[in-house]
Amino acid sequence: MTETNNIPGLLAKHGFEAVIGLEIHVELSTLSKMFCDSAVTFGEPPNTHVCPVCLGLPGTLPVVNRKAVDYCALIGLALGCEIADFTQFHRKNYFYPDMPKNYQISQFDLPLCSAGRVTVNVDDNKTDIRITRVHMEEDTGKLVHIGEGGRIAGAKYSLVDFNRAGTPLAEIVSEPDIRSSGEARAFLQKLRSILLHLGVSDCNMEEGSLRCDANVSLRPENSPKLGVKTEVKNMNSFRGLVRALDYEIVRQLELIQDGEAVKQETRHWDAARNITTSLRSKEEAHDYRYFADPDLVPLKLSREWVKKQEESLPELPDARQKRLISAFKVSEYDSRFLTQSKAHGDYFEQVMENFGDAKMAVNWIMGELSAHLNADNKEMAESPMQPERLAQLLTLVEDGSISGKMAKEVFSEMYETGKTAPEIVDDRGLKQISGDDELAVLVDQVIGENQTAVEEYRSGKKQALGFLVGQIMRLSKGQANPGKVNEILREKL
Ligand code: ADP
Ligand code: MG
Repeated sequence: MTETNNIPGLLAKHGFEAVIGLEIHVELSTLSKMFCDSAVTFGEPPNTHVCPVCLGLPGTLPVVNRKAVDYCALIGLALGCEIADFTQFHRKNYFYPDMPKNYQISQFDLPLCSAGRVTVNVDDNKTDIRITRVHMEEDTGKLVHIGEGGRIAGAKYSLVDFNRAGTPLAEIVSEPDIRSSGEARAFLQKLRSILLHLGVSDCNMEEGSLRCDANVSLRPENSPKLGVKTEVKNMNSFRGLVRALDYEIVRQLELIQDGEAVKQETRHWDAARNITTSLRSKEEAHDYRYFADPDLVPLKLSREWVKKQEESLPELPDARQKRLISAFKVSEYDSRFLTQSKAHGDYFEQVMENFGDAKMAVNWIMGELSAHLNADNKEMAESPMQPERLAQLLTLVEDGSISGKMAKEVFSEMYETGKTAPEIVDDRGLKQISGDDELAVLVDQVIGENQTAVEEYRSGKKQALGFLVGQIMRLSKGQANPGKVNEILREKL
């Protein structure tokens, strides 16, 4: 396989472009499941949060979770969608061992939300990605394959856990408006930030509460026709999404160059091997035998209800970005950094409750804090360093108690040990000496011991000052405030 980082460039060279549409499943953080009162949980012992309804036992009846409908509408409104007057649940039929009903309750031709858009920023270019629809459905249970690295192929046997069965999902479908893996990543990141601002999901990709399937095809550049697509599943990180898309794009390009056809199929992203493999030939909608669920009444959605949902929308990333720019005078670039997730914005604003210099706060969050979190594979929301603590550290730098260089060491120790900045500064005796009287004693001593340099300075050799400052810094073991030392020394000379 061709190794390149510039996939769009490689495609352009051959006169092709990539066409990508994403289907995103979001687990909604309601207390109970979509159609019953079993609790929505994660990581609990298998089959401990189930009931006859989500086990699909005969004779049970589903009841719609009102909160899940509210949440799905909020997502639609945040993405600029229209909210239907009338919406309905359909059964999507297939054989699947983690769905005892052998159908999934989903939505078909009458989704709750349709026709929205998301603006994404890639390399300073703004692009609109249209949203086809946002609909409601229920999640499946989880299969655990025993043996052979957890894959179904070659497993000795499989176990099924129904705790997840019936968890409310919103499925967000994009139009095929995405043209590169970078754009796909930016789109998913923006979407995640919006969802986190809405507070409708924890959007944890590793735990599967945000899942993304990617549809990919190639076509001659600027052709109005769509090519045959494959659907890639099983990416559980942003990195996985980018690599899976790049792999799939290059695979399709090589097929086309070899004069072979791209087959419409579902492919599995294998993160360990860095490749996609064929999973199954793709079902068509008619294979699912969709029909309206006779157990569930359709929903008529009043405009008053829609208005109420609209009024309950919180501040979203685009609005927050504007506010951060006007309230804190941060740059456009910084504002984008700070709204990439809700946690980033919250962290910054909490630092600013106890600190005044926005630029300095952004630099530390973007620099030291992000570097430590990355090295630890942690999200901003999981930062062991609380924003008030960072504000406290930055205040010590600002008032001259410690130098910026020392602050980096203190930061690392705070991050590792959970101690506060003043504790560490005291323990390690790092405090800068900034008091005039204390500094004057040091200055006098150095002047007394270095008469030659003093005479040189007085006779016009300006470099001698630097030497004297150096001596004072050495005497203070680096703790004297250099600016102040300069000032006092000049005065005395
Ligand atoms: P399917 O019938 O296979 O489910 P849909 O038309 O419902 O396909 O689209 C599913 C997703 O695939 C959407 O995100 C859509 O934008 C995307 N998509 C559709 N056709 C293509 C294509 N030719 N290339 C890339 N993505 C596509
Ligand atoms: Mg479809």
